[in-house]
Amino acid sequence: MVTIIGANSTAENLASGWVRAFCCFRVTALGRSCRSAASDTRPLITTTKGHTMPERLYMVIPCYNEQEVLPETAKRLKAKLEELIHRERIATNSRILLVDDGSRDNTWAMISDLHREDKLFSGVKLSRNRGHQNALLCGLMTAKDLCDIIISMDADLQDDIDVIDGFLEERAKGCDVVYGVRSDRETDSTFKRATAQGFYKGMKFLGVDVVYNHADCRLMSRRALGGLAKFPEVNLFLRGMVPLIGYPSAIVTYKRAERFAGESKYPFKKMLAFAWDGVTSFSVKPLQLLGGAGLTIAALSLLFSLYSLLACLLGWPFRGWGPLMGSLWLLAGVILAALGLVGAYIGKIYAEVKGRPRFLIDTLLDE
Ligand code: UDP
Ligand code: MG
Repeated sequence: MVTIIGANSTAENLASGWVRAFCCFRVTALGRSCRSAASDTRPLITTTKGHTMPERLYMVIPCYNEQEVLPETAKRLKAKLEELIHRERIATNSRILLVDDGSRDNTWAMISDLHREDKLFSGVKLSRNRGHQNALLCGLMTAKDLCDIIISMDADLQDDIDVIDGFLEERAKGCDVVYGVRSDRETDSTFKRATAQGFYKGMKFLGVDVVYNHADCRLMSRRALGGLAKFPEVNLFLRGMVPLIGYPSAIVTYKRAERFAGESKYPFKKMLAFAWDGVTSFSVKPLQLLGGAGLTIAALSLLFSLYSLLACLLGWPFRGWGPLMGSLWLLAGVILAALGLVGAYIGKIYAEVKGRPRFLIDTLLDE
């Protein structure tokens, strides 16, 4: 089931049904609101001759070793796009762009076959595995000049394909960005649910504008993609970058399913690295907190010195070496951790300064 609501980044609003009912098509938290009502909700563009026609959609699907799930994903996406073309919701020359992120299985061979058999499918192959965010960006940047709107979703059918209808409705009201937000986390393990929620809350605490429970399932207009193209950073965290673009936006909620087939390409270690990347790419608050921790430790050591002086003068019993060793090790640990944290930021600057390409394309299949 898909629910459409105006963009509002608070978890509480997402969770409560009555807010959902009353907040329909509200002013967005991230940009201006979409048009509040539309008599015809088809996303149309006006030509120079004054005619209107449906917009050209590109679905962008990053795929890494997805041979188990790809046939089913392709079948379902094809059926959906054909239905939308038939209903004149999207242009007849809309496409499904499958991005192969340097897979080691038969994913690219399958994409090539799909393209050969049906021109609805396009394909782009990266020169090597660059990770989900880079693969997704590659798809977005490849398609941005070929179409009017892009919808990105994962290859594993976790994102509800029917969410596309909600996206197009919001687009018809003038939104440039529509975020797909999962309505609950029932399909997650307790551990994943807790860490994901902790992550979003942590990001909020650090002042990073991310849409709660939104991954990378979203619609973007050509204008929004033009904005994204102006972000030159190599440390990619798209769900933090897209809200920075601005423009009218909305969210559509949907129930996220379990992976249809194959294994997750995000083991815990990779997930942790991704979360850490998000924090250090978007907030310098950890560095400020570090300064605060330094001051607190300095104040504590002052108190401790004062106590030692008094103990000396007044002859209080004082066993020195235990607390001394403890504080030495503690301080050494804090200093090393601080160096590590500063190093993480320097590492990011290092990567940005080198400005290496975020992806290289091996082959593009598009007609
Ligand atoms: N993916 C990718 N490159 C990678 C890892 C993942 O393109 O290096 C793709 C993957 O094929 C899928 C999406 O990113 O379409 C999300 O990955 P996955 O579903 O495994 O992540 P999870 O949902 O388990 O967090
Ligand atoms: Mg998945």
